[in-house]
Amino acid sequence: MSHPVIREEIRLQGIGVSPGISCGKADIVGKSLQEPEERKIKTGDIESEKKRLTEALAATRVQISALQAEIKQSAGAEHASIFDAHLLLLEDSTVLDEVIRKMENQLCSIDWAYFQIISRYADSLRKIADPYLRERAIDIEDVAMRVLKNLRWPDGKWMKQKLNENASIVLAHDLAPSDTIGFDRDKVKGFATEAGSATSHTAIMAHSLNIPAVVAVHDFKNTCQPGDTVLVDGYKGLLIINPSLDTMGRYSPLIEKEGTLADDLIALKDAETLTADGRKIVLSANIEFVDELKAAESQGAEGVGLYRTEFFYLTDKSLQSEENQAKNYAKVAAACNPHGVIIRTLDLGGDKLLPELFEEPQPNPFLGWRGLRVSLDRPEEFKIQLRAILRASAQGKVRVMYPFISNLGELLEANQLLEEAKQELTERGIPFDKNLEKGAMIEIPSAVMVADHLAREVDFFSIGTNDLVQYTTAVDRVNDRVANLYRPAHPAVIEMVRLTVEAAHRNNIWCGICGEAASDLTLTPIWIGLGIDELSVGPAQVLRLRKAISCLSTQPCADLARDALSKGRARDVIEISNNLAGISYPELLESPS
Ligand code: PEP
Ligand code: MG
Repeated sequence: MSHPVIREEIRLQGIGVSPGISCGKADIVGKSLQEPEERKIKTGDIESEKKRLTEALAATRVQISALQAEIKQSAGAEHASIFDAHLLLLEDSTVLDEVIRKMENQLCSIDWAYFQIISRYADSLRKIADPYLRERAIDIEDVAMRVLKNLRWPDGKWMKQKLNENASIVLAHDLAPSDTIGFDRDKVKGFATEAGSATSHTAIMAHSLNIPAVVAVHDFKNTCQPGDTVLVDGYKGLLIINPSLDTMGRYSPLIEKEGTLADDLIALKDAETLTADGRKIVLSANIEFVDELKAAESQGAEGVGLYRTEFFYLTDKSLQSEENQAKNYAKVAAACNPHGVIIRTLDLGGDKLLPELFEEPQPNPFLGWRGLRVSLDRPEEFKIQLRAILRASAQGKVRVMYPFISNLGELLEANQLLEEAKQELTERGIPFDKNLEKGAMIEIPSAVMVADHLAREVDFFSIGTNDLVQYTTAVDRVNDRVANLYRPAHPAVIEMVRLTVEAAHRNNIWCGICGEAASDLTLTPIWIGLGIDELSVGPAQVLRLRKAISCLSTQPCADLARDALSKGRARDVIEISNNLAGISYPELLESPS
């Protein structure tokens, strides 16, 4: 009698980009571009090879448009616009001319010529330091994979991608948007990819499907086999292959609890966010696309604390006009009544690049032409956005916020342009909120150090911890080589937050946090202790955080914050904060340590 082989548990650390825990069978999706066999042709075959390519391109166009229509229905127009870029890539005449030339010159099959040219484009993109452009290599490969499959199987049967299990954890080198959409959503319980970052399609899609996802998990393809039991811990960024009985024993109740907890928490949907001793904290949501408003509303967010406008701006050119931006912002403003929305002006640069503006790669994009610097260098475009925001302010409660401020001069210049934008609307007789509140993102240490000066020029601060951590600790937020050094609990970061909140309060303005650290329940006691007034988090985190806040009282949190500031290491800060969090809301601390 043969005995089943008991395989050892393997834990792989990646980056959690969508929270939650799920367990299921590994479905390994091979996504790499397969090289077709090199086949020689005769001169007389050239025309029929060209015809094959034309037909494959037409079939691909139909398939992409169908996917686009499907995603538009299920996830909204903004997500679907990713496929516009795919259609453009498909029809890129420079690429197609090169393919045909290669086929004619080398008398090789069109499949092989196509593969060679596309691989060269994708490879050169992959070598670019900038992560946004690097990720575009996936888009090119996604389109090319379809064309090659249509060349090989013109009947289209390859389209019917089936997942093997009822509870699948999809593992892939990387996932293109068309993959995630092609899946049967009821079966997919989680994603893990070797490539990717917090800005990758995997992350965005996992968020919108509300399932856990971990990216940058190195090398699981060599350790995991299809059908293995795998567990994805999106909170801790962990992929556990063949979890042991002990691990399952610790995770199983949590997985079950996730379900029942979600049911319990929904009762807090319309509750005010108050600490146990009655202090009001504003709890709002971060969004990147309008269709996320539904999730924000259903999770009881008090409006939107951060609307990152660059995402829709990057995905759809037509939205760049004042008219269309104004409509988009007005839609958000109307949906956020009565709480309101904070619209952040474009934060282009870093890893969010508009191709025509960033043709020349920058050596250190996160230290370069980014955020407000880009806006101030393009005052006319900036004023288009400011006027659009102002126009939306006539439709609901709107605030404007500037990203990436590093000095007072930039803030004064931005405010000056805002005044000009108001003047221009007044001349055109277009209504807007004359008292539109303006805010500064505090995400650069130099801004913290001049926070008193900045505070006099705005109505609120919002701390962008994602960047504040990277600039305070010199740890690139998208470089997974140094991900272990990326620590929001670093005492230097905690001190930066303290200085910012105190400067805000000294100048009678409020101060929030809109970086990911705002939703880290381990650190909630510290933020409350430091006197934070607002926390803006992903919609899926709102209810947990509301519950956590309701279990904390100001004084013990203030004592804890003081204690944290005396520590030298992030781990010491986490330990003491976790103690208080663990006593206050043990049921919310998702993951076993
Ligand atoms: C931040 O830096 O914390 C932030 C919220 O902005 P972004 O992540 O868009 O840079
Ligand atoms: Mg930022």
